[in-house]
Amino acid sequence: MSAPEKTAEQKTAAATQAAATAAPATAAPAAGTPAGAPPAGAPPAGKPPEGAPKPPAVSVAGDKLKGADIQVGGKYIGWSAVDDVRKRGGSGGLVTAVLAAALEKGLVANTVVLKKSNQFEAVPVLTSDVKDIYESAGSMHMLISNPTKYLRHFENDANIAIAVKPCDMRGIREQAKRNMINLDKVFTIGLNCGGTIPPYKIRRVVEEVYKLNPDDVCGEEIEKGQLIMETKDGVHHSQSIDEMELEDNGRRECCRYCIVKIATNADLACGNWGVLSDLSGKGTFVEVMTEKGAAFLRNAVDNGYAEVKAASEQAAEARGKTTNIMLKMSAKTKEKVFAPIDGDKLAAFKKELENCIHCGACKTVCPPCACGPEAKCTSFDNLADSYDISLFHMIRFLHLMDSCVSCGQCTDVCPADIPLTRLYRKFANPIQDELKYTTGMDDRTPPFFEVKLEEVQ
Ligand SMILES: Cc1cc2nc3c(=O)[nH]c(=O)nc-3n(C[C@H](O)[C@H](O)[C@H](O)COP(=O)(O)OP(=O)(O)OC[C@H]3O[C@@H](n4cnc5c(N)ncnc54)[C@H](O)[C@@H]3O)c2cc1C
Ligand code: SF4
Ligand code: SF4
Ligand code: SF4
Repeated sequence: MSAPEKTAEQKTAAATQAAATAAPATAAPAAGTPAGAPPAGAPPAGKPPEGAPKPPAVSVAGDKLKGADIQVGGKYIGWSAVDDVRKRGGSGGLVTAVLAAALEKGLVANTVVLKKSNQFEAVPVLTSDVKDIYESAGSMHMLISNPTKYLRHFENDANIAIAVKPCDMRGIREQAKRNMINLDKVFTIGLNCGGTIPPYKIRRVVEEVYKLNPDDVCGEEIEKGQLIMETKDGVHHSQSIDEMELEDNGRRECCRYCIVKIATNADLACGNWGVLSDLSGKGTFVEVMTEKGAAFLRNAVDNGYAEVKAASEQAAEARGKTTNIMLKMSAKTKEKVFAPIDGDKLAAFKKELENCIHCGACKTVCPPCACGPEAKCTSFDNLADSYDISLFHMIRFLHLMDSCVSCGQCTDVCPADIPLTRLYRKFANPIQDELKYTTGMDDRTPPFFEVKLEEVQ
């Protein structure tokens, strides 16, 4: 069963994708179209007669590609060459195929994949056993953990391959900037991300809204605006996604205003947006972002693990339109969530933080946080060091201004239910917006690392 790709907001995006692909397949591919696609600028093969039915939009253009056809900047649609993996994969099993090929052909010594405990929970495991890779096929939309800190423990041992959400990759890049992860040793496959629902929330929703035992759920999927849970007895149970999001039973708040939906910061950027109805669930749209990404995809194709064709122009257009709609929705939510605080700002922050028990969990999980045990903030995590607001938080607010990747982990782990991500972003948004600096997207030096000496007249 496929897991939910669409939330209430994504439904609109899906409709737009359908509209975007309704055009006839006559346009020539754009410059830079990968090998295997019709040549750029080629004239349409004859105008269809007036009133003739439009040919259905197709996801791919041309024949299967060889490794040598795959280039940086190319947009392709691919799938696992093994039928079972293609079926079990989130969207055709391409990612599993690339990971398995990388391990078995010696491009990496280890991979990090998910080990499922149940339908809603999994833990990342470091493995050099290809069986673990095959078992981890599929998308876990209820999994919120960010593997950045986990990856740090294994850096420099050997090459590692890992599938990442955009915010995971943002954390990895921020650690790399602080010399804590060596990007040369890590191969990253980015997964597009519409958002995640925490396991504890979906378990509650399954109990309270679906009136089911969460442990009886063995699959989930989205159809016609419904989030469908399949139980072990084969019965499907549906609820309206719109209504669930209205009741705050949907994605995490940070996902609703997230500004990176496609992991163009990884070596490969993979997802199902752009895969049209002819290949729905059977292929993944992949954009090759780096030379390393091209090499890993070529390795999977040339060694028979994956099959890849050039993405059609309609597929690329549909992917772009869907992403833009998602980003517009995120921008609207951001405006609402970060409306200026009325009145006394200090009092507002104090109120939010008054239940902090100084457990430090928010720092432990924070992906860009690079300090070790001697961190400045943890030296001041005693209430005796506090004046109005704990110095621990004051230091972190400042530290995170140019490094917070908006992943939501701090809010997720806080035992006092403090909406930390919102508080950190209240500090980080103005500076990151002003400096047009999106954390974790490229190798740009963090603004606070740059010392600018200006001549005083
Ligand atoms: C949380 C989430 C949300 C997504 N939302 C969208 C979306 O809105 N639009 C879109 O186009 N695509 C989305 N995707 C991507 C899409 O679902 C597929 O993962 C992608 O097309 C690759 O499919 P595949 O069959 O090639 O991957 P598979 O062959 O199934 O391999 C997937 C790999 O990703 C790992 N993985 C699964 N879940 C997670 C997770 N939560 N975090 C880290 N690693 C994980 C698995 O262990 C496995 O190794 C989302 C994926 C996830 C995980
Ligand atoms: S913050 Fe963004 S990338 Fe991370 S899980 Fe949410 S939507 Fe996905
Ligand atoms: S402060 Fe919170 S949201 Fe920001 S990077 Fe750290 S854990 Fe993620
Ligand atoms: S996780 Fe919550 S309770 Fe623990 S230190 Fe952070 S804000 Fe305080």
